[in-house]
Amino acid sequence: MSVANLMSKAGHEVVIVNRDVKFGGLAEYGIFPNKLKLRGGLRKTYWEILERPNVHYFGNVTVGNGKDLTVEDLRSLGASALVFASGAQGTKTIGVEGDSALGVYHAKDVVFHFNRLPGFGDKPFDMGNRVAVIGVGDVMVDIAHWLVRYKQVEQVTAIARRGPAERKYNPKEIRAVCANIDQAALAQEFDRIAPRLAAAGQHPGDILKDMNAEFAKCEPLKSKTKMGFRFLASPRRVLTDAHNRVRGLEIEETKLEPKGNDFSAVGLKQYYEFPCDSVVFAVGDRVDETVGLPYKNGVFLTNPSSTGNEPDDALFQAYDEASGKILEGVFLTGWARKASEGLVGVAKRDGEWCAEVVSRYLAGRPAHTRSAVDKTLDRFKTTLQDRKVDAIDLTGLRALEAAEREHGPSNDCIGEFKFGANQEMLGQIHRRRDRSGSSARS
Ligand SMILES: Cc1cc2nc3c(=O)[nH]c(=O)nc-3n(C[C@H](O)[C@H](O)[C@H](O)COP(=O)(O)OP(=O)(O)OC[C@H]3O[C@@H](n4cnc5c(N)ncnc54)[C@H](O)[C@@H]3O)c2cc1C
Repeated sequence: MSVANLMSKAGHEVVIVNRDVKFGGLAEYGIFPNKLKLRGGLRKTYWEILERPNVHYFGNVTVGNGKDLTVEDLRSLGASALVFASGAQGTKTIGVEGDSALGVYHAKDVVFHFNRLPGFGDKPFDMGNRVAVIGVGDVMVDIAHWLVRYKQVEQVTAIARRGPAERKYNPKEIRAVCANIDQAALAQEFDRIAPRLAAAGQHPGDILKDMNAEFAKCEPLKSKTKMGFRFLASPRRVLTDAHNRVRGLEIEETKLEPKGNDFSAVGLKQYYEFPCDSVVFAVGDRVDETVGLPYKNGVFLTNPSSTGNEPDDALFQAYDEASGKILEGVFLTGWARKASEGLVGVAKRDGEWCAEVVSRYLAGRPAHTRSAVDKTLDRFKTTLQDRKVDAIDLTGLRALEAAEREHGPSNDCIGEFKFGANQEMLGQIHRRRDRSGSSARS
């Protein structure tokens, strides 16, 4: 949206291809539902961009190998440049035994579930009573928030390989759940790990004081859920019962070792069992390699000849290692370029940088005539029609919005009605279009 904003403002014709029917990506299906101001502001901005006459939206169209359109299809349709802003849709695990057991989830899927992304919103996510969330970043806090406030489970424990000083969540975010933190258990946890923190030159008392200072402005208590932390704890195995359901985690104790200006966790080969009913991996995401761009180790490859300083053009250029060449006119931005990196503002700025890079690229090429632009758009639409892709345009989005509004507010964590399945959304859109078509005819 950020790229579309600047490129359309500069007078370029912009085609947006989106897997989801609705626009917004994680702003619609990731950010915690009760952040109404943030979500509402983003939605308003996105509508304004989509309503520009030189912006063309095609929702419900997936790009990838064996999908509606491949990267090669897009490259051959005649656009002057292609920008991939497809986010980090691949899941990351820490690759431990048992991580496919019943009751093991990836944070992104859980977040998609409670934000009701089709394919996730309508599936059950059985969390049990005691949930272990692996990771101590903002996504862990969002998952804990949902578990504490809406699922009201008995116990949520954030598991961290390193120590409390290496916690990654934003102090403002923890306010959503800090009223539920079991203070006695936290003090005990500090007593347990204090010698190892001290051995690394850290001051456990000061760290606990800092953490408690962050808990000064907690949101009011909404449930009896007890929230806790396990530090210096590296999950080694998911333990299962006879039905392959999670019954716990095998955890290896760790210690901290200095690594540059930071610390890394080193296993101590001492193990213990931590009982829990479900495990959520909140350890970041990687890109989805099935999109079909050159890929290696969780990332899409960009031109290695970069200076490393953003917005250096090379950092945004897709790169094929096999041929040693860039993919001419193909760019990456946002979480597709740097998986799980930063908040919406960071992704927005990345899009703005990418738009600058693309503008520089286009400035060195002949401009397309109006008729060439129209031909490209027609070719694009015809390709989708020939492949029987039910692409949703702006009119369809408006119809969907009206249909959802008619349902009024919902009393779950989202607070507003959302259709949970693509078929329902598409059905609503087509029914409304047919109705308005027949009333226009009569
Ligand atoms: C759980 C969670 C909570 C967050 N909370 C906050 C918060 O409170 N505040 C904040 O500022 N930031 C928050 N963020 C970060 C923010 O969501 C991201 O910074 C931002 O959404 C990244 O934008 P993006 O456009 O790169 O990717 P995304 O938002 O993931 O968008 C990717 C888009 O690409 C589309 N797509 C994916 N694959 C394909 C394909 N193959 N073909 C076609 N289209 C495709 C998707 O449909 C989607 O529209 C949160 C992130 C997460 C995971």
